[in-house]
Amino acid sequence: MAKLAINGGNKIRTTLFPPYDVIGKEEEAAAVEVIRSGILSKFLGCWEDDFYGGPQVRALEEEWADYFKIKNAVSVNSATSALYCAVGALGIEPGDEVIVSPYTMCASATAPLIYGAIPVFADIEENYYCLDPESVEQRITSRTKAIIVVNIFGQPHDAERIREIADKHGLKVIEDNAQAPGAMCDGKYAGTFGDIGVFSLNYHKHIHCGEGGIAVTNDDNLAERMRLIRNHAEAVVDDKGYDDFVNMVGFNLRMTEIEAAISRQQLKKLKGLVETRIENVNYLSKRLSELPGITPASVRENATHVYYMHPLTYDISKTGVSREKFVEAVKAELMPTTRRESEGVRVEAGYTRPLYLLSLYQKQKAFGGQGYPFNLVPSISYEKGLCPVCEDIQENKLILHDLMRPGMTKKDLDDVYSAFEKVCENKEELL
Ligand SMILES: *Cc1c(COP(=O)(O)O)cnc(C)c1O
Repeated sequence: MAKLAINGGNKIRTTLFPPYDVIGKEEEAAAVEVIRSGILSKFLGCWEDDFYGGPQVRALEEEWADYFKIKNAVSVNSATSALYCAVGALGIEPGDEVIVSPYTMCASATAPLIYGAIPVFADIEENYYCLDPESVEQRITSRTKAIIVVNIFGQPHDAERIREIADKHGLKVIEDNAQAPGAMCDGKYAGTFGDIGVFSLNYHKHIHCGEGGIAVTNDDNLAERMRLIRNHAEAVVDDKGYDDFVNMVGFNLRMTEIEAAISRQQLKKLKGLVETRIENVNYLSKRLSELPGITPASVRENATHVYYMHPLTYDISKTGVSREKFVEAVKAELMPTTRRESEGVRVEAGYTRPLYLLSLYQKQKAFGGQGYPFNLVPSISYEKGLCPVCEDIQENKLILHDLMRPGMTKKDLDDVYSAFEKVCENKEELL
């Protein structure tokens, strides 16, 4: 008789996992206070004091900069917007090349396109899934202007080697830290290694305000350029007496006072939320690592991983079962998370297909029908096989889950482990 739930046996878990909800009465009170003030955003798109936004926005920026020990924090309405500001502020131009990761949320690769620059994909590290410095160096040409590194799944990139390469070739570094707030490397916060670092306050991230983002930098000029791009630069530069007009077409990327007030409360909770994630992962990893074919994520030396997701490496030679089948069987043993039932059981075979395989790159159509901006460079490669390590990880090796979020009890984590264990022990049923 079948034991595995996927074959009609009993599930390990029959009740929903506890809700993952980091929003509490502090956020509620902060939002209500803003609503009662009647001023839900105080930004003005011209050169006056309110060009920099209202009291909540400014307080958030000050507190964020203090927390991450960096000179400037610029709030915007998403990390995607923060990436646009960063690319624009660095003066990246049409036809420039920017080296990006294929294994990330799409915006960290598409941001250069907004300024007519070309994303050039480098491969990732086998163990850590961040940009591989060797591959980055191989992709540098005379047109390369910047590297966008990503601290993927909560793990800091190899900041020392990337900085070395950037300095050697005169490149700027944008650090996409959307998935790693609070991670550290050599005693310094992830997000503060690049010329500009970017954080997300989107609902899926460690802390959130619904939609929001923050760009950080120690360079006052870059910070000011990002504030201009955030808020109608073209209407402000003349009165402000600002005379570097490159990329000074502005957007409206402003954060509201409500989001800023909520984010200030969220920042206070970050440390505790990160600690819980690490504790839960350590508890789970210790047990999962005893299963044949499953190896929990390695953490870079001198770094902390803050586990936006918990990556596992799957080895089919130890199980004989395809990764897809294995994951389906684990999912069948478990239940979704309360209030996020529509997401299903969050255990996945792989992350995202390597981004260069998206139609955007395959068809090289971004703006208009003539291939702009891809047509600005003599040749550009997006074919399958471009980043073999990334493709192998995505097609064969990676399992991702987030059933270690704050709110999960030891008993809940035991159920997650038991699902993996049960599938390993009954793998013959899957053959
Ligand atoms: C979520 C995410 C983003 C985009 O964040 P938004 O705030 O939703 O725009 C960018 N990069 C990475 C790596 C992300 O995970």
